[in-house]
Amino acid sequence: MDFSGKRVVVTGAGKGIGRATALMLARRGAEVIALTRSPADLETLKEETGAQTIAVDLADADATRRAAREALPADLLVNCAGTTELESFLDVSVENFDLLYAVNTRAPMIVAQEYARDMVASGRSGAIVNVSSCASFVGIPDHAAYCASKAGLDGLTRVMAKELGPHGIRVNGLHPTVTLTPMAVKAWSDPDKAGAMMARIPLGRFAEPDDIAEVILFLLSDEAAMVHGLSMPVDGGYMIA
Ligand code: NDP
Repeated sequence: MDFSGKRVVVTGAGKGIGRATALMLARRGAEVIALTRSPADLETLKEETGAQTIAVDLADADATRRAAREALPADLLVNCAGTTELESFLDVSVENFDLLYAVNTRAPMIVAQEYARDMVASGRSGAIVNVSSCASFVGIPDHAAYCASKAGLDGLTRVMAKELGPHGIRVNGLHPTVTLTPMAVKAWSDPDKAGAMMARIPLGRFAEPDDIAEVILFLLSDEAAMVHGLSMPVDGGYMIA
């Protein structure tokens, strides 16, 4: 897949899956526009890839909209930034629920709105990948706010696919299983929990960030020209177990 001449916005490009995606896109010719929070990550990404970097806290709706506009024009969009807090359902705080919804659900909506408005106005076709999670399909203990925020993102993906498809903008959701990133360290460092999760993955391992990035690039590419409105697990078979 060749992305030469394509400008691709990647949120959460500082670490983990987003960073792997940004690096892979740059290797395959894309001009990456990275929206993420930690300045140190943006600096090293810029050094490594020449990416345009925009520092933003995606929990802040107004700042997110400004950053999304600054990133334009763009050909393709990857909504990858996400965050989590582990709490049992009985203990979920309103603050954490609102934070996860803001970063995992509302921010992708705002960034995609700005991207799509510009594409529609200029009559260009494009593609969006929303990085969801297997957690939107199943109930994972201590992930109530996270599961809800990702299920909300799936609802957005489906409506975006219906409304943006006629404008030539493909929209797909991608659902990774546990992927070895800083977020996975936070969520899965308890060996008992990690072991039970691993036991449900027929391929017998967690994903590497590049496993997920490859599929994101496929969904962005012209090779996926008829793939639209999909919720695609990239999970080593977790969902069939
Ligand atoms: P990481 O925590 O490794 O990286 C997340 C990136 O998003 C970081 O660069 C982080 O920046 C950025 N980010 C988080 N919150 C904000 C914010 N408020 N404003 C701006 N940037 C922010 O996560 P992963 O790479 O593991 O996850 C990427 C996506 O994949 C997420 O949507 C996640 O929900 C999803 N996913 C991950 C799985 C996994 O097991 N890793 C499994 C299934 C889905 P900073 O470090 O500065 O906060």
